[in-house]
Amino acid sequence: MFEALGLMVFYENMLALNNVSLGCGDNQIVGVFGANSAGKSTLMYTLSGIMEDIAKKERMSGGERITIRGKITFTGKDISHAKPAARAKAGIILCPERRRIFPESSVLENLRIAGYLATPAQAEETLEYVFKTFPPLTKITRRLGGFLSGGEQQMLAIGRALMAQPKLLLLDEPLLGLSPAIQYWLAKSIKEIADERGVSIIVAEQYARPIMPIIDYGYILENGSAVIEGGKDELMNNPDVKSAYFGA
Ligand code: ATP
Repeated sequence: MFEALGLMVFYENMLALNNVSLGCGDNQIVGVFGANSAGKSTLMYTLSGIMEDIAKKERMSGGERITIRGKITFTGKDISHAKPAARAKAGIILCPERRRIFPESSVLENLRIAGYLATPAQAEETLEYVFKTFPPLTKITRRLGGFLSGGEQQMLAIGRALMAQPKLLLLDEPLLGLSPAIQYWLAKSIKEIADERGVSIIVAEQYARPIMPIIDYGYILENGSAVIEGGKDELMNNPDVKSAYFGA
């Protein structure tokens, strides 16, 4: 349903993504694993269209020269140059790194604002689903976003993404800064969301250990290149992946 072919992104002369191709089928969870600076956020920005916007703004302000190449298709349509808003409307929703929630709005307000693409009935149904999936949020509906713990913020960030009625959810480092117990719990919730909502998910993460068991297919990103790819078992049994991600 989603395919990216030969993605290249240059920041000035620095190659941040080098000929990356990846795909995600209906109802699949695809993992993109990589260390700091491997290019995960650049990839997620490129897939969601935000990279095109950043490049345009830089061009207009005479700033950094950002060059983007490659082709992206979604449900059979070429969306390589579609704006982020058009991609969101088509169902590609990014949940960015570091949980960009509104710190001065309450949990409930954060969720409701994010439902602007939904019909009122969809918004109510999704709100109920978010609270069912993330029970800790039910007790803090009035708390301001800025006063949440890291785990609560991440639940809210994913909840916000769900309110936008995704067909393809792009999760950028959802586990960053969370305790191992919460990481495993969130990974389980991400799998539940894929199964129960019929959503496809591409998740970029440094922490492969909790995420690897929930994926169907994965890619290892190193210095902007997808150096290894394969099904879950294939990746988990790959000696290079084992030593880099599982300390074996
Ligand atoms: P992290 O885990 O630190 O977020 P990442 O895998 O998401 O890392 P990116 O943020 O995509 O990596 O960065 C990939 C490379 O591109 C890095 O070397 C980074 O320093 C560089 N980079 C990112 N944004 C810019 C920019 N606006 N200008 C120049 N270089 C950039």
